[in-house]
Amino acid sequence: SAQDVATPGRTKEILKKNHLVLKKSLGQNFLTDGNVLRSIISAAELAPDKGALEIGPGIGALTQQLAKEAGRVVAVEIDRRLLPILEETLAPYETAEVIHGDVLKLDLRDIISEKFAGMSGISVVANLPYYITTPIIMKLLEEKLPLENIVVMIQKEVADRMAAKPGGKEYGSLSIAVQYYCEAQQVAIVPRTVFVPQPNVDSAVIRLRLRKEPAVAVTDEAFFFEVVQASFAQRRKTIYNNLAARFFTKETKPELEALLLGVGIEPIRRGETLSMEEYARLTEALLNCPS
Ligand code: SAM
Repeated sequence: SAQDVATPGRTKEILKKNHLVLKKSLGQNFLTDGNVLRSIISAAELAPDKGALEIGPGIGALTQQLAKEAGRVVAVEIDRRLLPILEETLAPYETAEVIHGDVLKLDLRDIISEKFAGMSGISVVANLPYYITTPIIMKLLEEKLPLENIVVMIQKEVADRMAAKPGGKEYGSLSIAVQYYCEAQQVAIVPRTVFVPQPNVDSAVIRLRLRKEPAVAVTDEAFFFEVVQASFAQRRKTIYNNLAARFFTKETKPELEALLLGVGIEPIRRGETLSMEEYARLTEALLNCPS
């Protein structure tokens, strides 16, 4: 039927009719709230000349709404049992297509160029399976896919870390990894009560707007992220101690203090107080450091 699936009654009815027991191991918590769907859709800035890539359509609650706004929707679902249900709930939407597969294993660049040829922009829009939130987002970013926005519902706690600014306990290597590629903005906080079944955490919708250029210029990206990782290795330790442990020996350690002061960073600061610009400067200095 052409009915919207995103109500508790309709969702439960579909599950019952198909004898479907949802799998916790696949992060199957289905959204049943039209207002939350609308806030996801409006954050994604879709239009008839834009494409939407959905990860994990479930029984199609979000997919239906995406199909109304975007020119083309491609949804990747791992659970074969959902395919016949999706066929039914998406029947009225000719521009929506489901691909059966594991998003972490598929060649998304290939899918994007094949399925969205001619579109003026592509966004990922999804209510993500929570057991693999970070791997999915890092895959989308590190593969440098041609995306405009990534609008996803994720655990609130992970959304807080992705959007965190320097100085707080949420700020860490995930904040820097995400904000290196994107402007991150929390769009909505979503209580667990709008899902069937209810997850045991609250959620948030986050919009990651892809930058044309990374937030900072670094000569060696991999080394930049290595420096960031090392700086947060032991959060309670100073930047000096964390970097010394990772990159220096007892003999070369004395150079580190001068190196830090040379780029304007007090050695007693903690990793969580450094801005991305400071990490970029620090990375260049370490690259040029003789030892
Ligand atoms: N979009 C639906 C909604 O909002 O109600 C369902 C969201 S549910 C949180 C996550 C969906 O991702 C489930 O349908 C699950 O089967 C699917 N999924 C889990 N792991 C996946 C993977 N590795 N690749 C693709 N889909 C996956």
